[in-house]
Amino acid sequence: ARAQIGVTGLAVMGRNVARNLARNGFTVAVHNRSPERTRSLVAEHGDEGTFLPGETMADFVASLERPRAVIVMVKAGAPTDAVIDELVPLLEEGDIIVDCGNAHFADTRRREEALRAQGLHFSGTGVSGGEEGALRGPSIMPGGSAESYAKLGPMFEKIAAQVDGVPCCTHVGPDGAGHFVKMVHNGIEYADMQLIAEAYDLLRAGLNATPAEIAEIFRDWNNGELESFLIEITADVLAHTDAATGRSFIDIVQDRAEQKGTGRWTVQSALDLGIPITGIAEATFARSLSGHVDQREAARRAFPDAGEKWQVADRNAFVEDVRRALLASKIVAYAQGFDHIRAGSQEFDWDIDLGGTATIWRGGCIIRARFLNRIREAYDEQPDLPTLLVAPYFAEAVGAGVPSWRRVVADAARAGVPTPAFSSSLAYFDALRAERLPAALIQGLRDNFGAHTYQRVDREGSFHTTWAGDRTESPA
Ligand code: NDP
Repeated sequence: ARAQIGVTGLAVMGRNVARNLARNGFTVAVHNRSPERTRSLVAEHGDEGTFLPGETMADFVASLERPRAVIVMVKAGAPTDAVIDELVPLLEEGDIIVDCGNAHFADTRRREEALRAQGLHFSGTGVSGGEEGALRGPSIMPGGSAESYAKLGPMFEKIAAQVDGVPCCTHVGPDGAGHFVKMVHNGIEYADMQLIAEAYDLLRAGLNATPAEIAEIFRDWNNGELESFLIEITADVLAHTDAATGRSFIDIVQDRAEQKGTGRWTVQSALDLGIPITGIAEATFARSLSGHVDQREAARRAFPDAGEKWQVADRNAFVEDVRRALLASKIVAYAQGFDHIRAGSQEFDWDIDLGGTATIWRGGCIIRARFLNRIREAYDEQPDLPTLLVAPYFAEAVGAGVPSWRRVVADAARAGVPTPAFSSSLAYFDALRAERLPAALIQGLRDNFGAHTYQRVDREGSFHTTWAGDRTESPA
């Protein structure tokens, strides 16, 4: 018997995807550059299903039924290209290469175009959920042709996480669409985590509470609108005690956050597309800032007492204020992320279903949350929604949270507690709803120093004022 699908690259992710496929009844060809990994997979997990191990790439390819479907799960970047180059001469027209690595969508577009010219399908597929997700059911975001999805879809939908009987996998769109959506997913994950971290910091400063006490607050929040995987594990991490010192785990961890680069990619792409994803950008910059230890040390010495003492009068009311501010800020981050996906979809002609995207993030992935159902409903009801913020459920949640949001951000500013994501989300909200923006002044300045022209509120056309001369206005 031939294999229905193959996996090359059997480190943690590839190994678990292969096991997941085999456990779901698919015959899986497996291969790795160094054959020890292939052998150990079969030795340790061969009883979970049917694996066809290939020592060489040629053996591996030969064991696949046609059209062949090969998942590449190797280090992103040059290794992916190297593996594709090795595969291509062994494949035939109509065969499918699936890149499940964390590729940049621009690389995926390039690879798809090159392989299409050779009669091959290339599906850049985002996979979220880490090692556990890969094994037990990830969120899968496949890009590429509809023909390739006809073969891959039934397998991917079977191994994906399932929520209410619906698989967390759908054909996102052509070429780079899958990796683009995965990238924005990771960007939203950055924003979500930064907001949670700020909420923790606010509670700690405002209530003078212990991490274990704050863990209880998060546990409680997880029973309501904020219910999500990240809120759940926040409670876990905050409640954890360090075995070596007996102190709260959170207090023995260095306060410098790392990033692998997908947040940066998201922000770079948003800049290119002109989409203000301020929450994701602040979250990404907050991580960079945390790493600038010398500057932090110098500033701490220069300004030891810049804030006022924080005295929260009503503890319960404050906790509720922080919860509402967190929810409102989170809605802003998602609204911005979905704007970004819509802009990418328009720019690259992907025709991405926004509601469908929210649906496949409900399980398997890091940002899985109850509230994603509401995003799907919002786009089902109004596909051309200008921003998620105005969909009924979100408008209600944000509207009800505004006074809390303002109090929290203002109190934090007075006390000198940094809330880059909370406060920039509030600024974004206020800017969107403003009657007039000071952008009018920017236009005036640009016309003054650079004759960049401006448009008037009362007449069509572009105009220029002769600022250096007699200040008459003329049509430009
Ligand atoms: P790694 O990213 O650590 O990559 C190791 C694998 O790549 C090994 O199988 C290795 O083969 C292979 N490899 C590296 N260079 C080459 C090369 N030049 N030619 C052939 N094979 C090569 O593995 P992971 O399992 O952690 O991740 C796989 C992919 O999945 C990555 O793109 C990663 O970004 C992504 N990923 C996604 C996660 C998610 O949650 N979605 C989580 C983690 C990773 P060998 O054994 O011979 O060295």
